[in-house]
Amino acid sequence: MQKRYLFTPGPTPVPPEVLAATAEPIVHHRGLDFREIYERSLARLGEVYCTSSPVLLFSASGTGAMDSAVTNLTAAGDRVAVVVAGAFGERWTKICAAYGLDVQRIDYAWGEVPDPVEIGSAVAESGVDLVFCTQSETSTGVVADVQAIKAAVGEATLVVDAVSSLGAVPLETDAWEIDVAVSGSQKALMCPPGLAMASVADHLWERLPSSRSFYFDWRATRKAQEAFDSAFTPAVSLIRGLDVALGMLLDAGLEAAFERHVRLGRATRAGVKAMGLELFSPDDDSSAVVTAIRTPEGIESPALLRHLRERHGVTLAPGQGALKPNVFRIGHIGWFDIFDIAAALAALELALTELGADIERGAAVGRAFEAYEQHVTA
Ligand code: PMP
Repeated sequence: MQKRYLFTPGPTPVPPEVLAATAEPIVHHRGLDFREIYERSLARLGEVYCTSSPVLLFSASGTGAMDSAVTNLTAAGDRVAVVVAGAFGERWTKICAAYGLDVQRIDYAWGEVPDPVEIGSAVAESGVDLVFCTQSETSTGVVADVQAIKAAVGEATLVVDAVSSLGAVPLETDAWEIDVAVSGSQKALMCPPGLAMASVADHLWERLPSSRSFYFDWRATRKAQEAFDSAFTPAVSLIRGLDVALGMLLDAGLEAAFERHVRLGRATRAGVKAMGLELFSPDDDSSAVVTAIRTPEGIESPALLRHLRERHGVTLAPGQGALKPNVFRIGHIGWFDIFDIAAALAALELALTELGADIERGAAVGRAFEAYEQHVTA
């Protein structure tokens, strides 16, 4: 059997301790055995989110938490603004359209970094009071400055998609006054896919409209969670895993995780550039979550990824949308270390050579290690 390597920006590799926890016997979700795990997981989630407001936990993928934000914050016909700079900004617009909202797009080219000042002006001009944005746009590798975006939109409610960023780059929900931040289990939180979460700032609760979703009703979810119960049967096995994963993340410290992500981003960029490849994602420390790379002349990304998977058991991620033919992505989110990056780069170098690309051989891994060895100074 061929060994498989997963270097994608979600799902991401899961530590064995977490996998083992998900394989523990099933407990009843209304019994004390589960209650203890649930209570601890919810407390840990609050710590990772840097918030004292409730973090609602759903059995869903990250999009479920996005859906919950739209269905709990809006009524049909409301005007909202969406910052669109990639596939996941587009996803906000699709969810908003599905629920009958009047969407004002604040558009950026894919790969461009959204400008908080421009966003602030667009929001002020249009008078909308609800804005959706993406912290880490996984399709491009751009990490937006959501602290500055919140400062720029002022009184408007800001909903942040932190699906690929929570636990990878700083997100100080309370200190930055982020109103809502949604995330998912399968990225920097080092869990299998299947759990979604949404932090909801305390000040929002008294003016929430009625939920337009039964399953994702924030009030019902909060009420149940306050009693360490859950509104419906939760994914008990995944929550066991989440409890262990968040414990690992917090024991090592969030700062250590953020520093590791920056250094892995540096290593990946140094390695691909040493091969002579061109980056699509920004060439700076902000791009700490996923590195997007252009394929060399004459090589299409789907063929490269197929070759890597079939010949070498290595899975990298394709480009999304219009980037599909010529861009591919290496994730460095969550349970990744420098040896993962070294393996990804070595496999990439080998596959490109086998496909006849004219690239520099033998330099990537060494340059990646050199870049990784530099500590991040604040
Ligand atoms: N937003 C971002 C930034 C993401 O990276 C993803 C997953 N790739 C999602 C939303 C959607 O999450 P899910 O696939 O878990 O529904």
